[in-house]
Amino acid sequence: MLDAVVVGAGPNGLTAAVELARRGFSVAVFEARGTVGGGARTEELTLPGFRHDPCSAAHPLGISSPAFRALPLERHGLEWVHPELPMAHPFPDGTAAVLARSVAETAASLGPRDAGTYRRLVEPFLPRWDTLVRDFMSLPAAPLPHDPVTLARFGLTGLPPSTWLMRRFRDERARTLFAGLVAHVIAPLGGLATSAVGLMFALAAHARGWPVARGGSQAVSDALAGLLRDLGGAVHTDYEVKRLDDLPPARAYVFDTSPTALARIAGLGRYCEGYRYGPGVFKIDYALDGPVPWTAGQARRAGTVQVGADSAEIGGALRAVSREGRAPDRPFLITVQPSVADPTRAPAGKHVFWAYGHVPHGWTGDLTDAVERQLERFAPGFRDRVLARATAGPPELAARNANYVGGDIACGAASGLQLLLRPRLSLHPYHTPHPAVFLCSSATPPGPGVHGMSGHNAARAVWRRLRQT
Ligand SMILES: Cc1cc2nc3c(=O)[nH]c(=O)nc-3n(C[C@H](O)[C@H](O)[C@H](O)COP(=O)(O)OP(=O)(O)OC[C@H]3O[C@@H](n4cnc5c(N)ncnc54)[C@H](O)[C@@H]3O)c2cc1C
Repeated sequence: MLDAVVVGAGPNGLTAAVELARRGFSVAVFEARGTVGGGARTEELTLPGFRHDPCSAAHPLGISSPAFRALPLERHGLEWVHPELPMAHPFPDGTAAVLARSVAETAASLGPRDAGTYRRLVEPFLPRWDTLVRDFMSLPAAPLPHDPVTLARFGLTGLPPSTWLMRRFRDERARTLFAGLVAHVIAPLGGLATSAVGLMFALAAHARGWPVARGGSQAVSDALAGLLRDLGGAVHTDYEVKRLDDLPPARAYVFDTSPTALARIAGLGRYCEGYRYGPGVFKIDYALDGPVPWTAGQARRAGTVQVGADSAEIGGALRAVSREGRAPDRPFLITVQPSVADPTRAPAGKHVFWAYGHVPHGWTGDLTDAVERQLERFAPGFRDRVLARATAGPPELAARNANYVGGDIACGAASGLQLLLRPRLSLHPYHTPHPAVFLCSSATPPGPGVHGMSGHNAARAVWRRLRQT
């Protein structure tokens, strides 16, 4: 009998498996797809030689993750590469606000009236970033923080809605940059704790950057899987788990799946019945003949570029998908251009680039034209650089990965209490009503992103249970 079986080889499933194997437990992972990775994979989606990340590409949470930092992933091929600027947010007038590694450069890009406010917002947290991120991302699994004062201070600033925090800024540049950061988790700007989301991404840029993985995000997953095999763990691909009986006997079953799939597979009936899924995304991967011709020079130097004219336009796009059930005319876009930092992704002189906009849950339309009209506003001539594109709306995303229910890439709405307390109101979110069944996906705290911390926290719950029995 195995000690633990993990269902799903996304970053959380693989991290959970590694954490258990490191502690001497026997572990096997079962993955539905032909390769490991889940939301951290790389494929030639368009043309030969163009290596696209179909899901995650920018890794502010990955490089800062306490779980990843404690593992020898570099020895298994993971190399973070940094663009000159972590993030840029261009405006219609041809200028841009930036998230630079330097607080001073960032503050200067926001304009003289908000530079001081920005510095006062981020500077107190930066010297304590590593401890803060560990305390925050371990909640509620490790209720005793290493630095309770900084965590409490972060809570006071972060718990209110981002619309409150944005009122501290006097000009639109800072408000727009901040609204864009909050929109990364598809949370409504007026939602509880959305200030924490924006602040977390900004602090991550200053503390450790927003890198990409050399060769593609698959390198993150391959490093985790390589380490797992070194530790004696097994990985089985092309193995979709439909019932608990499909799995070998084990003392614990750890699911890197949606709570709904877990309930179905493990026969847990009404477990997480009230769990809500959020809006979907429409994603386009591009092979380009050259770099994106952004008008703003800073955007050409950034790994990630947020596209939305102002905070009202971004808020309107989020409202359209989450409240009005329609695709926005001017979608807010998150775009990543990995080949700006990593030339291995495309043939010489060519580039890979992706963009996604938010759409209603389960939406079946085509957002390509709206996405490209939006890009043309900030990068005129963009369409002329397109060699090939691969599009994926909610149905295609859900078909690629069962965790993206209705195209929701966060595996659960990041709104209301569910942003922090997921998949249900509990101090033990990784446990289920079945004593041997655990959940470790991004449907558990700290939520979406390639950081492995849900897997790390769940593994703690598992090894405690295994040692008790
Ligand atoms: C378009 C897009 C862009 C993104 N951009 C970023 C980004 O830039 N940065 C970032 O940090 N995050 C990003 N994310 C989010 C990130 O990818 C996810 O939050 C993260 O991958 C979640 O990890 P996970 O391990 O919980 O689940 P997943 O990565 O979704 O992995 C779950 C795995 O379980 C497998 N599985 C599911 N059901 C079964 C079953 N029944 N049997 C066997 N296997 C099963 C799936 O095939 C999958 O491999 C993005 C996601 C998408 C889709």
